[in-house]
Amino acid sequence: MQKTPGKRAVVVSVHDVSPLTGVRTEGILRDLRAAGCGRVSLLVVPDHHGKGRISQDAAFAEWLRAKVAEGHEAVLHGYRHLRDRSEGDGWGRRLVTEHYTAGEGEFYDLGREEARRRLEAGMGELRACGVGAVGFIAPAWLLGAEAEGAVREMGFDYTTRIGTVVDFKTGSVHRARSLVWSVRAGWRRACSLVWNRALFAVAGAGPLVRVGIHPPDWDHGAIRRQVLELAGAALAGGGAMTYQQWLLSRRS
Ligand SMILES: [Zn+2]
Repeated sequence: MQKTPGKRAVVVSVHDVSPLTGVRTEGILRDLRAAGCGRVSLLVVPDHHGKGRISQDAAFAEWLRAKVAEGHEAVLHGYRHLRDRSEGDGWGRRLVTEHYTAGEGEFYDLGREEARRRLEAGMGELRACGVGAVGFIAPAWLLGAEAEGAVREMGFDYTTRIGTVVDFKTGSVHRARSLVWSVRAGWRRACSLVWNRALFAVAGAGPLVRVGIHPPDWDHGAIRRQVLELAGAALAGGGAMTYQQWLLSRRS
C-alpha cells in the first residue's frame, strides 16, 4: 500500500440496495448522516433474487436518483445476487458458496459470456432508473477470474474484494480490509462484534477505512450501535467518500 499523506478516508458501503430493502436502506442512510457520514456507496442489485427489476419500480428509481443527486454513488452489485446451483459442485465449492455466503455468490464461478450478459442487463437497469455506475462489486465479494475478465472488458473503473480495492484504470490494488458483520445467528453476531472491534484497532489507523453494511445489520441493536460507533470514530479523523471519489483522489 502506498503511503497517503494527510487525512484518512472513510468509505461506507451499503450492500443489497433494491426495492426489497429500500425502506431499511433509507433508515441506514439517515442514521449514518446523523453520525456524520453523508456519502455512501450504494451497492444496487438490479433484480434482487429475481423478485422485481429496479426499472419496473418507479418509486425506487426516483429514490435512487435522489440519493445519487445527494452525493451518494450507485455501484452495480450482481444482477440477481443469487448463485445458480450447479450439479457438479463438490464439497469445497459448496462450502464457499453456500455455507460462507448462504448461496449468494452470483459471480463466484460464472463464465465470461454469462457474466457479460448479466453486467449488460444490470447496467441497462441502472440506466433505466436514470443513474450510472463505474464500479462493480460482486455479491459476497466473490468475483471469479472469468467474471472479472468480463467486468474489465465492460470498462468498469474498479471492483472491491473483502481485503482490497482494485483500480482497473491504473492497475493498482489497494489493501484495506473491510469491516463487515455477520448477523445470521447469535454466535455470528457475538463473533462479529469482537472481530470488528479488533480489526478496527488495526484498520482504523490506515489511510482507508472501509465499512460494509448489510440491511439486516440494522435489525440488531448491538450491531447497529457498533457500526455507527466505529464509523463515527473513523470519521473523526477523516472524511466520508464514495469508492469512486476515493479512487479519483488516489489517482491525482
Ligand atoms: Zn450483497
